[in-house]
Amino acid sequence: MIRFSGRTFLVLGLGRTGQAAVRLLRQVGAQVLVWDDAGEKSSEIPWADLQAIVASPGIPFAWPHPHSLIEKARWHGVPILSDVDVLRLLAPQATFLAITGTNGKSTTTAWLGHVLSRDTATPCQMGGNIGLPALDLPILTEGRYVLELSSYQLEISVFPLYEIALLLNLAPDHLTRHGGWEGYVTAKRRIFLNPQARAVVGVDDLSGARLVEEFKKDPHRVLLPISGKMVPVGGVGWKEGVLMDAYSSPQRPLKVLRQEEILQGEHNRQNAAAVYAMAMLCGRDAFSLAEDMRSFKGLEHRQEEVLTCKNVTFINDSKATNAGSVIPAFQRFPQVYWIAGGRPKEDGIASLAPYWGCIKKAFLIGEAAELFAQTLAASSVPFDLSHTLEAAVAAAFSAARQAAMQQGPQVVLFSPACASFDQFANFEERGACFKRLVQEATQRRA
Ligand code: ADP
Repeated sequence: MIRFSGRTFLVLGLGRTGQAAVRLLRQVGAQVLVWDDAGEKSSEIPWADLQAIVASPGIPFAWPHPHSLIEKARWHGVPILSDVDVLRLLAPQATFLAITGTNGKSTTTAWLGHVLSRDTATPCQMGGNIGLPALDLPILTEGRYVLELSSYQLEISVFPLYEIALLLNLAPDHLTRHGGWEGYVTAKRRIFLNPQARAVVGVDDLSGARLVEEFKKDPHRVLLPISGKMVPVGGVGWKEGVLMDAYSSPQRPLKVLRQEEILQGEHNRQNAAAVYAMAMLCGRDAFSLAEDMRSFKGLEHRQEEVLTCKNVTFINDSKATNAGSVIPAFQRFPQVYWIAGGRPKEDGIASLAPYWGCIKKAFLIGEAAELFAQTLAASSVPFDLSHTLEAAVAAAFSAARQAAMQQGPQVVLFSPACASFDQFANFEERGACFKRLVQEATQRRA
């Protein structure tokens, strides 16, 4: 049994999550020790007196090897908690809606948070890996938390006891941290560790489809499959551009809303199905739910239209940090001047080969530039080694402007397929920089 008041905790990692943990633990009367490899360190750790370690998501837990303090905690039998575990312990009466997946987590979380906040009778707090860290959210005595969870948080969590849990999709990402694909999938699946969790599972990839088959064998598991491509049996999905609910009405699926009424892009069909399913499991009726889903306008840095100048439209998709998350942009914009690069992920961009035909020309930046250039050159996709975002924006605008004069509207897509850390603090700063550069480049030409 974990207690807080008067007990000693060690917060490991002092990023935003760790700092929020320190604040909240102090608020609830705990003694807090801290440890950050690159910063503040408490001088002595009284292992025998520690109630628990609260580990930040960035702390290596298993791969490539556990952090030395994680190993010591295991040796001393000290529990290791994630920040969400602490919230769960402090807010036992609240309902936890947990969201994970490789792509679409933030959009789905924000969209669900938007929809559930419309129900003013039930308090709702949204955060986690998006917006406020879990421990900066108010402690609810009733109501709902809508939390985006990363594989890192799920790997650490000892109490993933969520009432409603969603796995949107699975594609390779963060493989080094989890020791490969199996480790990554195992971490994500921990979201369903609570056997009572109502499970919403995306079936559009093999791992999700397999999970559904597995859950179907468990007579106690409440299961709601979702899809962005079809209507799964007993689930929520899409048919002819209409969101259909075959969960509440298996015989004659309900028509909920049309794609034109909500966020654009095929990928958002999966997200919409998930939002609808999760909110419905909270007891929302189809009619009011559809209305609240329509009023969500989307998040910054996700296929965000920046502006159009000289018949060239600029799209800021800075959040696309791996190859898989670029695909929805290519599907929505089938002919683009593509700005990509940054710190490459393990699997590079080879998996985008089916979309090479979408690229009129690529403008490559950051640490990935040479690597991506080799991949593109092997398939004769035209590219420019721009190196910096500033040079890439200028070159892409110039090429797109020229094409627009003869061929009509053109798109410059900034969908990097890489992490931002080689040149920026995070994807938000990278997206903001792109938008500023676009403003400057287009004003010069206006
Ligand atoms: P995450 O939080 O999982 O990184 P976001 O909602 O921030 O996801 O979206 C990041 C990018 O991933 C978007 O710009 C979009 O291109 C892509 N994306 C969003 N939803 C999906 C989805 N359901 N399937 C595949 N890709 C998606």
